[in-house]
Amino acid sequence: MGCAVAHAVSKRWSDVFLVEQMPKLGMGASTRNSGVIHSGIYYPPGSLKARLCVAGNRMLYEFCAAHNVPHRNCGKLVVAHGPGQEGALEHLAENGRANGVEGLRVVDRAMVRKREPHIEATAALEVPSTGIVSAEDVVKTLARIAAEQGASLIPRARVSRLDPQEDSIAVTLAEGDASDPGPAIEQTSTMETIEARCVINCAGLYADEVAAMLGNRGYRIYPVRGEYCELVRAKSYLVNNLVYPLPHPDGLSLGVHLTRTLWDTVLVGPTADYIAEKNDYEHNRLPIEEFVRRAKPMLPELVAADLQLAYSGIRAKLVPPGDEGIADFVIEPDRNVPRAIQLIGIESPGLTSCLAIAERVATLVAEILQ
Ligand SMILES: Cc1cc2nc3c(=O)[nH]c(=O)nc-3n(C[C@H](O)[C@H](O)[C@H](O)COP(=O)(O)OP(=O)(O)OC[C@H]3O[C@@H](n4cnc5c(N)ncnc54)[C@H](O)[C@@H]3O)c2cc1C
Repeated sequence: MGCAVAHAVSKRWSDVFLVEQMPKLGMGASTRNSGVIHSGIYYPPGSLKARLCVAGNRMLYEFCAAHNVPHRNCGKLVVAHGPGQEGALEHLAENGRANGVEGLRVVDRAMVRKREPHIEATAALEVPSTGIVSAEDVVKTLARIAAEQGASLIPRARVSRLDPQEDSIAVTLAEGDASDPGPAIEQTSTMETIEARCVINCAGLYADEVAAMLGNRGYRIYPVRGEYCELVRAKSYLVNNLVYPLPHPDGLSLGVHLTRTLWDTVLVGPTADYIAEKNDYEHNRLPIEEFVRRAKPMLPELVAADLQLAYSGIRAKLVPPGDEGIADFVIEPDRNVPRAIQLIGIESPGLTSCLAIAERVATLVAEILQ
């Protein structure tokens, strides 16, 4: 999001600074995801997620084509098992059409088998506008263009304080990320203060903590880990494209799905579990058998020996554990410090929507800087 916003605002304004606490850009959720260009079928009609995903989908394809970012518009299948689930597919299709997603159609078992000979399903929803992209290259390309437009990209710079002034916000930067060792470093490492006429909080999992630096304690982000396995090379022929189950009825995730990547590996995941720490990617990883259990209804011949553990990512959820439903993206000026713009709960489909979100942010920036 930071790169997309820097890309959008540096087109129109000078003196844009993108500060990132890690040594490189895009080490958070933005490169720890499925890399899927979502269509927008899942989200409540009229929500920001629905509107920005559908718009962002088109914008991202155009951006990738214009800047040679590796991607593939491969489409996807959402599969159903039995009449109950087939009804749910029709609802999903109706929801998608209400969101403006084009080309949706329910296909039968024979058609599923033609496209995916190893997948078991009684029917499936075909979603032609879904695709896959190299998230790393999206980040790098946005950053490169932003820099060419004059933006300053500063890694290893952590926002440690935000102090509203009369006509600006003083942004205090410390060196390195919050996990850098020792309070001694914290005390001696303050690098610089930037007087900003506008601050855009794109801190992902930590966006609630950055908002709290301005006294806004109204947001809380709950980290939800998504773990992946990968098919061993010899078994990657089992999946040709993207195959999804119906989404979790409680709205927690899209369910463990099968994703053929641009590198012809096949991801199985991500799972979805609330965790205590925002940077805990590896502790208590799920066993491979759990991925087999979840993927087997779609891929009956899958056995544990076909899988190896892969990476994990952490979602910035606004819905607390035990609650249900889909929380919308929050993209708004801070209620007390309106020259700060808060981007909170930018979970999936954040990668897909990044260019559309950035355009929306640029409109808010224009109101602040007018
Ligand atoms: C498992 C998983 C699968 C997903 N799959 C998809 C998908 O297929 N398609 C899709 O569209 N979306 C997907 N998403 C969602 C997508 O990845 C996110 O919406 C998007 O990457 C969020 O971007 P971000 O910039 O907000 O967060 P991040 O990429 O996490 O960036 C936030 C950055 O802020 C930095 N930061 C935090 N605090 C500070 C501070 N105080 N000072 C300086 N820097 C700071 C962090 O270091 C980090 O680099 C998935 C997400 C997950 C976790």
